[in-house]
Amino acid sequence: MAGEPQDDCLFCKIVAGQIPATVVRETETTVAFRDINPQAPTHVLVIPKVHYRDVAALAAGAPEAAADVLRETQAVADEEKLDSYRVVFNTGTGAGQTVWHAHGHVLGGRGLEWPPG
Ligand code: 5GP
Ligand code: ZN
Repeated sequence: MAGEPQDDCLFCKIVAGQIPATVVRETETTVAFRDINPQAPTHVLVIPKVHYRDVAALAAGAPEAAADVLRETQAVADEEKLDSYRVVFNTGTGAGQTVWHAHGHVLGGRGLEWPPG
């Protein structure tokens, strides 16, 4: 059920400490950890501890957790000393989403072209 931990979810396992991750920040409602396949000098994923399949479902089902995730993206940027950065929420297979637990990518530390590919 949405909001409940899922046995087959990689990021729920990271939240539970069952899979190791390089955690850079943790709050009561969120975890931020380095992406295993970084696309920029800083590439941190910010996730809610509650399980929702994507950011749209999170915003609809747990808007306070969605706000917490957004707040944490800025906190990560501050800690990484990024004055320019990008936050990406891939939503749906066609947009490249591969992990079905809402997550924001915080990317920075290099020039980021716009529009993206
Ligand atoms: P998506 O493609 O769903 O937007 O992003 C999923 C991200 O999770 C990818 O950038 C991928 O590199 C990252 N990822 C996948 N498996 C792991 C893992 O086990 N640990 C960490 N830290 N990142 C992962
Ligand atoms: Zn999950």
